[in-house]
Formats: sequence, structure tokens, C-alpha cells
Amino acid sequence: MSTPVRTRIAPSPTGFLHLGTARTALYSWAYARHHGGQFVLRIEDTDVARSTQESVQQILDSMHWLGLQYDEGPFFQMQRLARYHEVAEGMIAAGTAYRCYCTPEELDAMREAQRARGEKTHYDRRWRPMPGKKLPPPPSGVQPVVRFCNPVDGIVSWDDLVKGPISISNHEIDDLIILRPSGGDAPAGSLGVPTYNFAVVVDDLDMAITHVFRGDEHINNTPWQINIFQAIAQDGAPLPRFGHCPIILGDDGQKLSKRRGAVSVTAYEEAGFLPEAMLNYLARLGWSHGDDELFTPEQVVQWFDGSHLAKSPAQWDPAKLAWVNAHHMKLADDARLAALVQRHLQQRGITDAPLAQLTPAAALFKDRCSTVVELADWLAMFYVPVQAAPAELQAHVTPAVVPALQALREALASAVWDKAGIGAAIKQVLAAQGLKMPQLAPALRVLVCGRSQTPSIDAVLALFQRDVVLTRLQHL
Ligand code: GLU
Repeated sequence: MSTPVRTRIAPSPTGFLHLGTARTALYSWAYARHHGGQFVLRIEDTDVARSTQESVQQILDSMHWLGLQYDEGPFFQMQRLARYHEVAEGMIAAGTAYRCYCTPEELDAMREAQRARGEKTHYDRRWRPMPGKKLPPPPSGVQPVVRFCNPVDGIVSWDDLVKGPISISNHEIDDLIILRPSGGDAPAGSLGVPTYNFAVVVDDLDMAITHVFRGDEHINNTPWQINIFQAIAQDGAPLPRFGHCPIILGDDGQKLSKRRGAVSVTAYEEAGFLPEAMLNYLARLGWSHGDDELFTPEQVVQWFDGSHLAKSPAQWDPAKLAWVNAHHMKLADDARLAALVQRHLQQRGITDAPLAQLTPAAALFKDRCSTVVELADWLAMFYVPVQAAPAELQAHVTPAVVPALQALREALASAVWDKAGIGAAIKQVLAAQGLKMPQLAPALRVLVCGRSQTPSIDAVLALFQRDVVLTRLQHL
């Protein structure tokens, strides 16, 4: 029987959940779901100075909004310190880790000397126990770090799910610090806080993680993690498979940054994107399924088997995201869109927009909108006065149509207030005034809706309260 698939996402709560992490969370989730496995959320909060509760909440909200449900967690590393200490003590006892008492000044001097000799800087393993080597007595007053005894020879290799086979010589890697003293207020004798590369291995092992998808900025960490894993894994526990996804570039070809579109996942919710569209777009950004561009979350789960992951960086394309979102807007349930629009309208101070009116309006307008915000821009016209551009007014509300608009206002005052009744009133006015629909309709749209292009005007007017339409036609 094969091992059940278990994946995880392990964000650090030092800022919002950024798009790269959201994408690897999505791949991890989809891979677990595809294989009927489990998906774990782990919060890597060992950078105590930079971790915040707001970031944790932001991560949870983003995962929830995207629909990336986790089966276990959130686990918090700072609640697992005793476990890291236990593993480190076991490693010290087994001779795979040791205490190093070098002061920062000594380390600086060591590197300086190496630079002077033209060597690459590295830790020279001076506190590493070796057969026949005599270590000095530990200096008093120096809080030691714990270092891993990295193998001195051989190579570390893995077959990356994204990049293919990767090998690195152990000569390139020095003895990594796995625990650091946690500072002045640490309890006496405390081993301190684990470094990322140590905690991640203990956790991936304890949580029986089988597949790790993450950003390729972690490729250089992977050899250490594999070596530590081999040193502590018991009973032949298998190494996880790693998949390192290339970074996401901004639409200017540069790395996404705060200035270059690296906004939080939740900012996209605010900007009116639908979670299923975001998921669609993020999935495709770095993965492909034939020529498909549009898919549902269920299809991502069905198709995502860890293959067809792109080796080269993907470029963030706001226009394509808008196109994907427009597609999902068309598929979205009208009542759901109405509720989303209602929330956006409330933020604009429009608190009297009932769902009973917004729902049919969403049905009528959603096809022409890329985002919920655009839909809210349209539907706001039912509740707040509109102001057409002067050029539009001049172009369409010409002296030739003003009498017809006045006659229509009168006809609408007593028309049956539905699409058919309004349509009949318009036809009757057109016939009486000897005009054609293309002469009257744009003028009517500009005055009532503030824009000269809308869906079928009888259907649009029927969604208004009659007195709103009559008021907007009154000053002619
Ligand atoms: N906390 C790390 C990060 O946010 C996790 C990397 C990993 O998945 O191992 O980059």
C-alpha cells in the first residue's frame, strides 16, 4: 500500500499572504485533494520580532476566501519549541549536532581571515567534535548555538517535481545553525529558537509530509533539509518529494514587489475579484492543462497531478486576470453577486439597496463586467443620481429628441411598470414622434443611467423605481 499523500503550506506571519505563497498553497491543496490525501496549515512564526497576530489572521482569511480548506492545523511552531529541543538534544547525543561557542566577533574574524586568503567564507567547524580532536572547555558567559554536523563529503541529490534532478556537493555547505539562544530573557539552559531549516524538517517529518511545493528561493535550503532529515528520520521515514516553483514576475518583467503589484490576496477580494477566478488564474500561472485557460476549482483538483509545472517564471498579467474574472462573473449565481455588490455599495454609503432589486440587476449587467466593483459601479445608478459626461449629453440629448423624451415621461407615468409595459410605452412614443429606437434610446440611457450604452433599455428601466426614472427625465 502506498503512503497517503500529505501536503502542507507553511507561511511565515510576517506580512500578508502574498501571491506566490497563495499559488503554492493552491498547488499543495490541489495535489492533496487530487490524491484523496491531506493538506496541513503550519504557521512558521519563529521570527518572533516580525511575526504578528494580524498576519496570522490575514493568512487564515486569505485561505478561507480562496476556498483552500486545510484538514489539519493551523500548527504554530512557537508552540512546538519543546519538540525541537528534544530533537536537538537527541542529535547532540547521537553526534549529529554540537554546541558552538563562537562569539559574533570570532565569526567576523574567521570570515575576515578567509576573505584575506581569497576563500569563500564559511564556518570552519572549530567546535565540531571529531575523532582525535581536542576541544577547548566551553567559555563562560557565551550562550552557545547548536550546529548540525553536515556530512563533509558526498553529494545531496533530489529529483525536483518542477526542476528535475538537482545535485549539490556537501563541500558547498557548512554546519548550519539549527538552534539559536532566544536572547536575554530566555530561561537558563534553554536551547533557544529553531532556525527555519531545522524546524521545517522536524515538522515535515512529524507531520508525515510527503510532498512539498514552495517557491524556488528555497532550493538552496533543500540540501541542508535533506541532510538533517536523513540524520533524524527514524524507521526509514521517506524524504518528501520537493517541487520548487519559479517566482512570479510583475507585468514589467521584474520580481513582484510592493510597488509592483505584490498586493495581498485579500486586496483582490476588495478589488472585486471572485475567489474561483483568482484560483483559476493562480493555478494557470505556473501550471498548464493542455490549452485550457478557464477552469473551475473542481477541475483544478481533477487535473492537478504535479506534472506540467512550468520551469520558468510566470508573468503577472492584470488584463488576463480581469478576463478570467469576467468569465467567472458570467457563471456566478446572481444572488451571490447581488450580495457581493450590496457589500461594495454599503462601503460607498449606499445602504438601501435591497437584494430583491440587486439580484435581477446583477443578472442583467454581469455579462459586461470584469469585476464585482464594476458591477457595483453599474448598479449604484439605481440609488444615487447619475451625471453623464457633457459630451455624451450633447451628442445624444439633441433638440430633435427632447419632445419625444417629454412624451415618454408622460407615457411612463402611467405605463405598466415591467419590461413589456415600458417597451410598449417606448414604441408608442416612437410611432407618435416619427423616430427610430437608435435616436431615442441613447438619450434615454444617458439621462437615466448616465451612460449611452446599456443592456436593452426596457429591461433596464424596469429595474428602476418608476419615480426615479420620472425624476431623471423631468428637467428637459
Ligand atoms: N516559512 C517559509 C516561507 O514562508 C516556508 C517555506 C517552506 O515551505 O518550506 O517561505
